[in-house]
Amino acid sequence: MPVDQEQIAKSLAAKIDKLAAGKDIKIMHVCGTHEYAITKSGIRSLLPPNVKVVMGPGCPVCVTPQAEIDAIVELAEQGKVICTYGDLLRVPGTKSSLYDTVGDIHIVQSISQSVDIARQNPSKEVVFMAVGFETTAPTTAAIVLDGPPENFSMIVSHRLVPPAMKWLMQQGEAKLHGFLLPGHVCTIAGSHDYEQFPVPQVIAGFEPLEILYGLYMLVKQVVEGRAEVENAYTRAVRCQGNQKALKMMEEVFDVCDIMWRGFPVIPDSGYKLKPQYEKFDALKKYNIELKEVKKETGCLCNEILRGIRDPTDCKLFGKACKPLKPVGACMVSSEGACRIWFTYGKAH
Ligand code: SF4
Repeated sequence: MPVDQEQIAKSLAAKIDKLAAGKDIKIMHVCGTHEYAITKSGIRSLLPPNVKVVMGPGCPVCVTPQAEIDAIVELAEQGKVICTYGDLLRVPGTKSSLYDTVGDIHIVQSISQSVDIARQNPSKEVVFMAVGFETTAPTTAAIVLDGPPENFSMIVSHRLVPPAMKWLMQQGEAKLHGFLLPGHVCTIAGSHDYEQFPVPQVIAGFEPLEILYGLYMLVKQVVEGRAEVENAYTRAVRCQGNQKALKMMEEVFDVCDIMWRGFPVIPDSGYKLKPQYEKFDALKKYNIELKEVKKETGCLCNEILRGIRDPTDCKLFGKACKPLKPVGACMVSSEGACRIWFTYGKAH
């Protein structure tokens, strides 16, 4: 960090320390990019020990349930051409990951690349794994509206952040005082959906100082007894979101109940294609049923994603579970808490 930035960071940390004196404050963020920036830049080491920042269900790959991994593995085994983001490749399903599956599997950077593969191979069936939160759903919607070829379909694995936050608050198990909201998601979806929650919330950007400032605003709200949605990322987020993207999502998707890894089925927390676009739904097209099978591995991902355990609480962390030989999804994705802590250290 340049010297002037270091001074600003220290000054913000000192203000947080002063504000939080005598109180235990636990804040959750719901974004893999926030965890990456927090851990890599050592933000936790600047905070007083009574201010704890935990990661919630903010990594889209980590919350993709085993049942969906099993489904895409099954399609690969059937001989379909599979297109996926690299992050998903090693995520374990019940029996296997895509990495350990013999099949025609392509790593792509975008959904449009998988549509290109479908167009170039009209005699083959191409399936894309469409994971991501509100941030990536507009691209999926745009592709559907653009009319992909008939040999293209996808497993729609998009999930919505506010219903997961609502579920977490209803459980009360993480004993949270506030949320640092994901800047990328709010750039698309805006901030209105978060106004329903009676807790302090601050939308934050991704530079270390932006995150520290967001944490300062949150701690201030907690101490002053306010519960508002504040925006510390005004250069990107408008409260109404990106209207063009939202309109496309509304045209293509219906909201549905969906399973999350580490959670039960959360009501209204996912997207499914509207009936007129169901021909692009791979699960329907190939008659695949999602089945969640319980498998005991000793992995604590479920509890880490709910903010009640840290990666280092897991006995397998850095021993039986490493990025190239992951036991759980949180060690796979570059946005997963275990993978980030393994790479950059705990930095508390
Ligand atoms: Fe799961 Fe591995 Fe993280 Fe343990 S270290 S919680 S096994 S992903």
